[in-house]
Amino acid sequence: MLSYLLPILIGVLLIGYSAGKPYWREYQRNKMRRKPFKKEWRKIIQQRMPYFKQMPTDLQLQLKQHIQVFLAEKTFIGCNGVKITDEIQITVAAQACLLLLNRKTDYYPKLHTILVYPRAFIKEQQSLNADGVQQVRKMVLAGESWGFGKVVLSWQDTLEGAKVPDDGRNVVIHEFAHQLDQESGKANGAPILDKEQSYQCWSEVFSLQFEQLQRQAKTGKPSLFDYYGATDPAEFFAVASEVFFEQSRQFHYEYPMLYRQLKLYYQVDPIHWS
Ligand SMILES: [Zn+2]
Repeated sequence: MLSYLLPILIGVLLIGYSAGKPYWREYQRNKMRRKPFKKEWRKIIQQRMPYFKQMPTDLQLQLKQHIQVFLAEKTFIGCNGVKITDEIQITVAAQACLLLLNRKTDYYPKLHTILVYPRAFIKEQQSLNADGVQQVRKMVLAGESWGFGKVVLSWQDTLEGAKVPDDGRNVVIHEFAHQLDQESGKANGAPILDKEQSYQCWSEVFSLQFEQLQRQAKTGKPSLFDYYGATDPAEFFAVASEVFFEQSRQFHYEYPMLYRQLKLYYQVDPIHWS
């Protein structure tokens, strides 16, 4: 008799566990959100994110609540001698959570670890050359976003990105935009869109501006976007996200259709903070 009942009991327990998990997680997150936000952390945000003061109060509060959840759920690891401090964690978390404001979010669900290097790091990548011979290419990177579980950041580049908030360059925004893109599988420049937003419209607008950037990169014609964005659609989305948050006025003026798509996606309008 017990041999029949045991699998049923295990099944019921498993179903109960799966059904209850999201509620339990939300309960834990609400607890984190309600925790008092340390004064020193607020100072770090103000120093590393100068436009924080211009943001509406409800967004400031949301950002602080997101930071509490982010810090509770993600692990920071210092590499090559970096000691993880509050300054590192809050600077990274604040900019990563900027991308989550006003949106339904599961806090970068695939991500669990942020590796922080002191400065740009070298990555070796194996590839085939034109003759089909395998070669190792060395690349110097300020950051990298992995599909499963990790974001790698150079602290020096993170600081430089935060220090000049209006130059359209921000490695944290860039890598976390990749994380959002990777939520739908491999990064391809098409993150998961809300019901109200059309994939067709997104694709048309992004393709048009991506191809324009590719032509500009080929001919050396200046662009608001870094030529790196012309590498592939995923890079274009990440580069456009940096400019959206850091040079919103110019972006809106030069590329109103693309700006509108990102405004719908990110659910904020950074023009009001600049
Ligand atoms: Zn990238």
